[in-house]
Amino acid sequence: MGSLAHSLEAKVKGLDRVKRQASTGWAGLTAPNYVRTPIILCKKCGCTITDGKTLASFSELKLTFNDNSAHVTTSCKKCVVGLSLAELEAIYCADLLALSQEEEACGRLMHWQLLSDRKITGYERL
Ligand SMILES: [Zn+2]
Repeated sequence: MGSLAHSLEAKVKGLDRVKRQASTGWAGLTAPNYVRTPIILCKKCGCTITDGKTLASFSELKLTFNDNSAHVTTSCKKCVVGLSLAELEAIYCADLLALSQEEEACGRLMHWQLLSDRKITGYERL
């Protein structure tokens, strides 16, 4: 198999991870589908964190993974505190879903071999 086949296989794995998350209720996230261009919602509570410009409620967190990689994502300032591993997994899966939608819209290929399998170990506020 060439690298495209491996990449597609990895994407299927990532989308399966998203489907598992969707079937178990996204750990209570209000807005797993958080991209409403130009508006971006907080995935956990659903409040608006950008409306084309960054609002005062906007915050970021860095997820850390078992392969020592990291992923920066968004939240509101209120929800960025005290997130559980289950919520972090749901937040990450919401991002995988958004990345797959972005890939289809823009034709920009995502690094599914990096994205799909890594396990979350924790996070820090940025
Ligand atoms: Zn929030």
